[in-house]
Amino acid sequence: MDPTEMNRIQRTLEALRTQVLARIAEQRGGLQSRAEVAAEQFAPTQDSHAQTITQHDIALALSEHETLALAHIDDALQRLAVGTYGICTACNQPITVARLQAWPEAARCICCQEAQEKAPPHRT
Ligand SMILES: [Zn+2]
Repeated sequence: MDPTEMNRIQRTLEALRTQVLARIAEQRGGLQSRAEVAAEQFAPTQDSHAQTITQHDIALALSEHETLALAHIDDALQRLAVGTYGICTACNQPITVARLQAWPEAARCICCQEAQEKAPPHRT
């Protein structure tokens, strides 16, 4: 891949990473205030243990998507650093520049991505 294009993709990934981190921080801040509201509404009649589980579940559901996105971005930056960026992690064939421009954190070529999406999630 052209080094200029590579630099551009690296900047895109770094910008994406900043955005995801900001969203995670935002969600954690928002969650804290919602948890406080819930604590006021349910206390003291609600069982405190049940309430803790609920808040934990909300935190997991909210952060899972962003945490996964961050992991994909970090992986892509790592591949850029070691020089394997743009190579499919499944079949070792180059991923098209058009695909990388559209989805810079892509780890697999379109064929492997589609194959994985079609496969049953828990195939043994
Ligand atoms: Zn592939």
